Amino acid sequence: MTAPTSRPTARSADLFARASAVTPGGVNSPVRAFGAVGGTPRFIASAQGAWLTDVDGNEYVDLVGSWGPMLLGHAHPEVIEAVQAAVARGTSYGTPTEPEVLLAEEIVARTPVERVRFTSSGTEATMSAIRLARGATGRDVVVKFAGCYHGHVDALLASAGSGLATFAVPGTPGVPQSATDLTMVLPYNDRAAVERVFAEHGDRIACVITEATPGNMGVVNPEPGFNAFLAATCAAHGALFVSDEVMTGFRATKRGGWGLDGAVEGWVPDLMTFGKVMGGGLPAAAFGGRADLMGLLSPEGPVYQAGTLSGNPVATTAGLTTLRLATDEVYAHVDAVATTISEAASAALGEAGVPHLVQRAGTMFSIFLLEQGSTLTAVRDFDEAGRQHLPAYAAFFHAMLDAGVHLPPSAYEVWFCSAAHDERAVQHVLAALPAAARAAAA
Ligand code: PLP
Repeated sequence: MTAPTSRPTARSADLFARASAVTPGGVNSPVRAFGAVGGTPRFIASAQGAWLTDVDGNEYVDLVGSWGPMLLGHAHPEVIEAVQAAVARGTSYGTPTEPEVLLAEEIVARTPVERVRFTSSGTEATMSAIRLARGATGRDVVVKFAGCYHGHVDALLASAGSGLATFAVPGTPGVPQSATDLTMVLPYNDRAAVERVFAEHGDRIACVITEATPGNMGVVNPEPGFNAFLAATCAAHGALFVSDEVMTGFRATKRGGWGLDGAVEGWVPDLMTFGKVMGGGLPAAAFGGRADLMGLLSPEGPVYQAGTLSGNPVATTAGLTTLRLATDEVYAHVDAVATTISEAASAALGEAGVPHLVQRAGTMFSIFLLEQGSTLTAVRDFDEAGRQHLPAYAAFFHAMLDAGVHLPPSAYEVWFCSAAHDERAVQHVLAALPAAARAAAA
């Protein structure tokens, strides 16, 4: 599918053709390729605040935010200054450094985890967390939910089997059946399925892993008490509750997704994973949890886990500076921007007669465009997220892109706002919405 555009895109198109010759699909992470919406991805030359500039000189208000990390906006002067100073001191030593301690202390102060270990990606964080859960419990089975993405860990790249309480099938070629034989995939928000799986396999389950509030099927909120129920069910059966906050951590609220329910209801995950915002746009991620569990990691304990660049001084400096700047005022601003944009998008879609749902999790939101006549009142799981009208989203996306607004190039994603989305950026988005809504209706 080619997408009409009134903007120059020759340089992006040329780079994409060259990239495709030397890199599969022309991209280094699949969703960047515009496969779900058609057309040519824009190659970005620079970014400042809320704005991206592509190699053809087009400017866009960015509502992707590098898929979450850029809470403060792009090239925040204090983050850049701190990173430049860190780079000038050397980029990696392979020894312990002070920024790692400071960032770990900041994470411990904001979340219920008592100790953390850094990794370079969210994928490594979830992979390490489930290894630790298996090591700690001496059990093998991992329970996850359909539509939750935890990175490209073999055991977690699994699809639901045919029955509810059956073991999973690999979600991609290259993952052997044996890698997912110990993974069970359940429908999200389905307490009965969780109870059934624990009734049948409870003594084999090492952990339940879930996104704190799923964002990888679009924002799908846990029904009230669902995370608390998972925590209690795990505790009752001697399994661990792993809350994946790679996306929501330090983003949905100051205390992440946990700030939306756990901090209010008083439950605590056994292990948590973090990434994105805590790296400030550089590769840093972490997993953490109860002190006794984390003490099982090598070199203190027997569960092996490591990384050449883990806790890298430049990345941890970027993350530390970002978190220190992410004050209550920042979250209030990002929240207000999310409200303004999501309400305006909903109004424009309503005006154009496009059925849709807006779902929010703190500062994060998604807009699900539905088929005419759809009776869906909320998206509660992956099956319902699949009821979106994908051609309508593709038309909406391209109309917004042509008007200078870069939305996520997939209907199953979060729209990310930042502290740098000021009045000018927000008004630019609002001005683009009515025509894009009409395009979605066509
Ligand atoms: N967990 C969640 C909830 C995510 O959203 C992601 C990435 O989007 C990951 C894990 C994997 O993180 P990374 O892409 O840094 O490996």
